[in-house]
Amino acid sequence: MKTNPYAWIEQSLATIHQANWYRSVQTIHGLPGATVLLSGQEVINFASNDYLGLAGDERLLTAAIAAIQEFGTGSTGSRLLSGHRELHRELEQAIASTKQTEDAVVFSSGYLANLGAITAIVGKRDLILSDQYNHSSLKNGAILSGAAFIEYPHGDIAVLRANLSQQRQNYRRCLIITDSVFSMDGDLCPLNGLLDVAEEFSCMLLVDEAHGTGVLGKNGAGCVEHFGCTGRELIQVGTLSKALGSLGGYVAGSAALIDFLRNRAPSWIYTTALSPPDTAAALAAIKIVRQEPQRRTQLWQNVDYLKNLIQDLPNLQLLPTESPILCLQLPSAAAALTAGKQLRAGGIFAPAIRPPTVPTSRIRISVMATHESEHIKKLVAELKNISW
Ligand SMILES: *Cc1c(COP(=O)(O)O)cnc(C)c1O
Repeated sequence: MKTNPYAWIEQSLATIHQANWYRSVQTIHGLPGATVLLSGQEVINFASNDYLGLAGDERLLTAAIAAIQEFGTGSTGSRLLSGHRELHRELEQAIASTKQTEDAVVFSSGYLANLGAITAIVGKRDLILSDQYNHSSLKNGAILSGAAFIEYPHGDIAVLRANLSQQRQNYRRCLIITDSVFSMDGDLCPLNGLLDVAEEFSCMLLVDEAHGTGVLGKNGAGCVEHFGCTGRELIQVGTLSKALGSLGGYVAGSAALIDFLRNRAPSWIYTTALSPPDTAAALAAIKIVRQEPQRRTQLWQNVDYLKNLIQDLPNLQLLPTESPILCLQLPSAAAALTAGKQLRAGGIFAPAIRPPTVPTSRIRISVMATHESEHIKKLVAELKNISW
């Protein structure tokens, strides 16, 4: 008797529905911004990673269009074959200059940058230590590398040290990987402590600045700059798709590291080069990040304003945060979904984040530099009305 080999898919979907874990897309219309059209309704947007409001900025649009007209829509090949352009190099040099590293290399996404960097620098004889709350791209990079993999409790340097004193000598190379800003919580990694431990046990350290770049640090260079660690040897990964408003990822570090990645990172070698418009838009954004620190100032003013207002909410607990990501804890996935729907009905776009993305359900709020105080007041008024 034959059974349908695909029948399990519908059964699995039913299980996902039953757990209130089901996800689906929502259509946005028009330009991205502090307010957007969501399925025909204008909503205030607290769901975007476009912290500085650059994804709809006229200068990025113009740069992208000019690049299409000059270089075409696609890169037509990998960087090592036919896809490399001077524009790519200019962007890499701008990233390295902002980060104050010797060099940088751009990937087609931040996810691919993590997969490429991790699989290139460690393998079967090596050890990876990973913060429990790390982004999926770090975890999957670790699995793909074939290295031994140990997760340490979130931000717990003491356990990390204990693991290393037990395990370090059993492995050739060792790599510690961490988000710099934890994307679903909003808190920061203990960077100085991690650098010290890495040094003590002769480990490499890779920090993912996806939510740090453009946001943290006096010059917007990220968490590394924020903690005064500029110039210390480590591997910085990031994305061009969040505060930089474009698409793509990067690794920044020593000239030797970047040269090595160009020879050994499969997700860079065997994929098409970043498209001309994405590259040009990111380059325009990097320049704005440097030249307009007032955007960052405004972003942090908005964060402080909102934090003060939500401190008095009786029904919702704010998770620890040091970034524009503010998460309000809810008791269950169902409660988070209900809260998300109530906010949406009140004209607020702030998503429910549920397992398996995070261990506990929450409403995640992303503050933008371009939010007006009216937007933030409206959010707080709607939060006060939530019940589940
Ligand atoms: C978003 C994100 C990525 C992935 O970046 P993309 O450019 O969107 O692929 C990687 N790491 C972290 C921590 C992120 O938040």
